[in-house]
Formats: sequence, structure tokens, C-alpha cells
Amino acid sequence: MIDHPPLPEAEVKLLDRVTELAAGFADTAAAYDERAEIPAANLRALHEAGADRAVLPEWVGGTGLSYRGFGRLLRVLAAADASTATIWLMHAGAAVGLAEFTRETLGPFFAEELLAGKRFANALSEPASGNRFLNPQQDAIAAPGGWTLSGAKRFVSGAEIADYLIVNARVDGAPAFFGVPMPDQSVSIIQIWDTLGLRATRSQLLAFDETPLRAEYRGRAPGPTDFQVIPAGLPAISLGVADAALAALVAHARGRIILEKPLAHQQWVQFEVADVESRLAAAHALYDRGLSEADNRLPSFFPTLMRAKYLANKVAVEVAQLGVRVGGASGYLKQSPIQRHLRDAEAGQLMAYSTEVMAGEIGREVLQVTDE
Ligand SMILES: Cc1cc2nc3c(=O)[nH]c(=O)nc-3n(C[C@H](O)[C@H](O)[C@H](O)COP(=O)(O)OP(=O)(O)OC[C@H]3O[C@@H](n4cnc5c(N)ncnc54)[C@H](O)[C@@H]3O)c2cc1C
Repeated sequence: MIDHPPLPEAEVKLLDRVTELAAGFADTAAAYDERAEIPAANLRALHEAGADRAVLPEWVGGTGLSYRGFGRLLRVLAAADASTATIWLMHAGAAVGLAEFTRETLGPFFAEELLAGKRFANALSEPASGNRFLNPQQDAIAAPGGWTLSGAKRFVSGAEIADYLIVNARVDGAPAFFGVPMPDQSVSIIQIWDTLGLRATRSQLLAFDETPLRAEYRGRAPGPTDFQVIPAGLPAISLGVADAALAALVAHARGRIILEKPLAHQQWVQFEVADVESRLAAAHALYDRGLSEADNRLPSFFPTLMRAKYLANKVAVEVAQLGVRVGGASGYLKQSPIQRHLRDAEAGQLMAYSTEVMAGEIGREVLQVTDE
């Protein structure tokens, strides 16, 4: 039996404030997307609203949001502006990770930096690790005071405004995690980011040239009792995009008059909307279950959240594709939000773990396949 107590009052207040802010973010999302510009003002507003303090667990100096509160906050954000939601998620994942992994050493410092408004980014994916971003293939080389890293990290959301990166590399054959203060002369940004979707995340390629990985900035590996920011947050990005895509579809279907009747009156539209809306509701429910399991410290939370991401990634694309069909050529115009939702929905499937990697994990688990 899962316990669903009401959210604490402080979380409800934060959610109300973020919902207010999100209305403004929705108005500017298309322009940031068009310019592929980081919505820095949105990120500052989220910090001022207390979102960074809230996502930092109590045991490392924050106020500690519940998983359910975190999931609600991110869905609201992603429905308004999926790029803002993605950068904030990656920032929160990197900052909370650094504070937790170095808790016995520099953790309080990283926590203070987050609370002071400093920005963090995840530099974990690398060319040879594919989707397995926690299994770095690049070796750190021992050097005075620690190690150095030469190589590349890919798709680092918000890298250009980061004050700290969390970077992983292999040390003695095992993954090791480090904080790297930015800017650092040995880290250069390679301007590859001109994408189809989530354009305002500016998830750039970083080149490392003998970058110091200082021993005092080294943390332990992620553990099961850490606040699981990224696995708990990624389903919300796709669910928020799907909610926004469905809202845009409904608005179009109700407003577009064809042969004297709104498009919403056509039976094929009703049938198809019933199908995607029901599946979207199921994806939300599965996600809510995973969040409640996580709040109740049930070990099943991780497999549930993985299934929630898998389902959410796919449903978001289905809703957005239906939006394009219902939108017709007018939904295909740049001025319509429908095309942006489709582009953003596609990105959800790529972010690790991708739907292919998760399908392999879930399928092996269901079929009880234990060997490779
Ligand atoms: C918008 C966006 C933001 C991102 N932000 C960040 C960030 O802030 N920090 C960060 O570190 N990373 C980030 N990433 C990277 C992301 O999480 C993935 O790790 C990365 O995209 C994987 O590389 P790739 O997309 O080139 O795909 P590839 O790894 O080249 O995958 C190609 C295909 O192979 C499949 N595949 C890959 N590996 C496996 C495997 N082991 N088993 C089976 N199939 C596999 C994939 O599913 C895909 O279908 C971001 C990506 C996107 C799109």
C-alpha cells in the first residue's frame, strides 16, 4: 500500500509560485526556441522562487522537496517551456549530485554555491559511452593533486552559463565523479548546438585538454539513497511536453471551423484524441506511482520510474504527432506551437536512458534474461 499524504504547505506554496512563473515562461518559449538562446531570466526566477533550495535535500542543507512535489513542479515547467525545464533539471541533478557525492568533504561548499545562485551542469555523456552515461570510457591520468582529463563530453545542457560541471571519468578502471569549476582554460565549448528540438537548452559539446580533476573535488559514486534527480525528473519533461501538445491540439480542434463546424466535431478527431489522452493519463498515473514509491523508499521505485520514462517518451511523440495531423498545414507553420511540441517530444526519447536502452532493460527483466 502506498502512502499519499497531502504535499507539505511549503511545497504547495512553491508550486503555486512556479505555476505563476510558468505562465510567463510559456509566453516566451517560442522566441527562446527560435533563437536557441538559454532562458537565463527564467532560471534566475526559479532560483529566486526557492526551487534550487527546495530540490536540495535536507541532509545536505536544503529544504528537501518530496519526489511528488518535484514531479509536479517539473511537469508544470516542461508544459510551459521544455528547454527551461530541461536545463533546470540538469542543473539540479549536477548540484545535488555534487553536494551528496562529496558530503563528507566539499558537499557543504557546493550546497552553499547552489543556494547562492551558482549554476551547475552535467558533463557526463561522452562519445564512446553512448547512452550509458554513468560508464565513462575516458581514463583520467594521475597528476599532482589528482588527475587530468583529455577528451570530450557531449550535449551538456546549459554548459555556457555553468559555474561548475560534474564530470565523470575512469580512475583505476572504475567511474569516478568530480566537480570542475568553470570557466577553466582547458575546457572549450564546441558550437554544435543547432538542433531540431529543445533548442534553448544549448546542450553543447565540451573539449577537455588536460583538465585538472582535483582530488579534493572528487566524490563517491551515485548511490541508491541519493535524491534521484535525473531518473525522477526525465519522465516529467516528456509528460509536460505531451500536456502542452494536447492543449494546443484541443485549442486548434475547437477553433478551426471546417464546413461550418469545429474540427473537434469530427469523429476521427474524437476517437484519436480519446486514444492519446487515455494513454497520456496512464503515463501520468504510472509516473505518480513511481514518485510515491520513491517518497516511501520502496525499492520498486527505480523500475517504475524507468517504465514511466519509457511510456512518457513514447506518448509525448504520439500526442504531438496527432497534433500535427489535427493542426493541418496551419499547425505546421512556425507560428504554431504544435510543431515545437513535436520537435521537443522527439528529444525526450534521446535523453539517457533512451527508449531503446530502456526497452532492453525492461524486456530482459520481464523475460528474466540474466546473461548478455
Ligand atoms: C536535449 C538533450 C539534452 C542533453 N543534456 C545532457 C546533459 O546535460 N548532460 C549529459 O551528460 N548528457 C546530456 N544529453 C545526452 C544524452 O543523455 C545521451 O547520453 C546522449 O544523447 C547519447 O548520445 P547520442 O544521442 O549521440 O546517441 P547514441 O548513444 O549514439 O545512440 C544512437 C542509438 O543507439 C542506441 N543506443 C545507445 N547506446 C546503447 C546501448 N548501450 N544499448 C542499446 N542501444 C543503445 C540509442 O538508443 C540510439 O537509438 C542530452 C541529450 C539531449 C538530446
